[in-house]
Amino acid sequence: MAAKIIDGKALAARLRAAMADEAKQLTADGVRPGLAVVLVGEDPASQIYVRNKTKALAEAGFACFDHHLSADTSEEKLLGLVRDLNGDRAVDGILVQLPLPKSIDSKRVLLAIDPAKDVDGFHPENLGRLLIGEPRFTACTPYGIMKLIEEAGTAVRGATAVVVGRSNIVGKPVAVLLTNADATVTICHSKTKDLAAVIGTADILVAAIGRPEMIRGAWIKPGATVIDVGTNRLATGKLVGDVEFAAAVERAGAITPVPGGVGPMTITMLLANTLDSARRRAAD
Ligand code: NAP
Repeated sequence: MAAKIIDGKALAARLRAAMADEAKQLTADGVRPGLAVVLVGEDPASQIYVRNKTKALAEAGFACFDHHLSADTSEEKLLGLVRDLNGDRAVDGILVQLPLPKSIDSKRVLLAIDPAKDVDGFHPENLGRLLIGEPRFTACTPYGIMKLIEEAGTAVRGATAVVVGRSNIVGKPVAVLLTNADATVTICHSKTKDLAAVIGTADILVAAIGRPEMIRGAWIKPGATVIDVGTNRLATGKLVGDVEFAAAVERAGAITPVPGGVGPMTITMLLANTLDSARRRAAD
């Protein structure tokens, strides 16, 4: 039987509608959720990401403080802007779009963001809090992945989970979240021996590699829940994931499509983190 398709777009729309309602209420109480979006330079992909984020913020009734700086902006000037945003009470979250121009030390800039406004969840303090099971902001893609697993109705407690990819923004934090939710987790990467055999043990598989359809459908355990984070543009222009979808859909129990799975959830969880921060401001 073909797998259930986990519709990230529909889930994102539901969550965003609920958040828009809450934002309206908070705004009426004098605390409008607000996100500062900082873009340096003209990178075309970054411009699209920022446009999508700005649109989602507007649709949910959040304030968006747009800061578009030229590519020759100095590191000191950018750090000065981050400091100003740290001190601005109307700003609940700060997002600095990556990658930054090569002349700027991205690490230094990300460390300068007040961890209490780090809605991307990339600051070491927030990653550390996640690790000890006391999260403040959970990185948006991993957070969205957990929501998608929940949406699929998959039990995480006691499940065998395999995460392929160990980046600081996806693979590692999602492995921590699954561990904290009582799954038994294996992390795979480019040096893993016999990837197919490890994947074959997974009740829950998260693929975050960045290689078009590298994970073959035949490797997947029948009935598994498959979350495909990969976003790979083929020469034909087609967007595909890291999992061979056509074959995987015949074996899995539930699977996310690409596009329409993880992607819409990432921006949604950025809104969720910003709203969370605004709630804390309202309670101040
Ligand atoms: P990344 O930093 O490049 O990490 C890729 C990981 O895949 C690394 O840990 C690497 O292992 C592993 N890997 C590479 N080749 C492998 C192989 N042959 N076998 C097993 N593992 C292999 O990528 P990322 O930032 O985590 O992103 C991963 C994918 O998710 C990309 O396609 C990206 O575009 C997509 N993404 C999508 C969203 C979204 O919102 N939809 C958000 C973030 C990322 P090593 O550590 O050994 O090098």
